[in-house]
Amino acid sequence: MQAQPQEARIRHMKLLIIEDEAKTAAYLHKGLTENGFVVDVARRGDKGLDLAWAGDYDLIILDVMLPGQDGWEVLARLRKDGRQTPVLLLTARDSVQDRVKGLNLGADDYLIKPFAFSELLARIRTLLRRGPARQTEIVNVADIELDLVRHKATRGGKRLNLTPKEFSLLSLLARRTGEVLSRTMIAEQVWDMNFDSNTNVVDVHVRRLRSKVDDPFPLKLIHTVRGVGYVLEERAS
Ligand code: CA
Repeated sequence: MQAQPQEARIRHMKLLIIEDEAKTAAYLHKGLTENGFVVDVARRGDKGLDLAWAGDYDLIILDVMLPGQDGWEVLARLRKDGRQTPVLLLTARDSVQDRVKGLNLGADDYLIKPFAFSELLARIRTLLRRGPARQTEIVNVADIELDLVRHKATRGGKRLNLTPKEFSLLSLLARRTGEVLSRTMIAEQVWDMNFDSNTNVVDVHVRRLRSKVDDPFPLKLIHTVRGVGYVLEERAS
């Protein structure tokens, strides 16, 4: 088999637009089709979810405010069902809360309306390029195993019931095992934002994570480095 040039591969990808506003949906459909994508449109959340389950989409463009089921519910359902199709959220306002909520629920990126079509196109291409790289991501540290695609974490073969945020935190620490990560750095990476002085949120989440990952086991893996931050590593006890 011959490798296809990047653009050629992306050009025939299948996109699903879930957007209730007729004008926006038509505009996106036209623009994306002209750019070589195969595009389906759903005008309700529940219809979109049906299509997402039935069709083999490379990417979903999901509006938040929708009739039937809203974008949050659609996204949560997809991820709960193990669907890792990249999702680009369209939000009506730049609310930090919405942004965090979307990313926590497993959105891959988001755009605030109104947006330039060129920006949408750039974001789509970026997501599609990095899409296949997510297929086989397993991280092991000591007896912890993280499946980054299925969002599954186990320790000693036992399933850890983590919230999406706890999973993100653990996967960051695990991917950079042995490296001391500052609270600010963790806040930026896990919450995708700068908390400035309000990094207490990191401590709170680390505490909750420890209660699940470390407390039930004799060997502790998450360590506090006073005045600096946290590190996940196997240390001789
Ligand atoms: Ca809408």
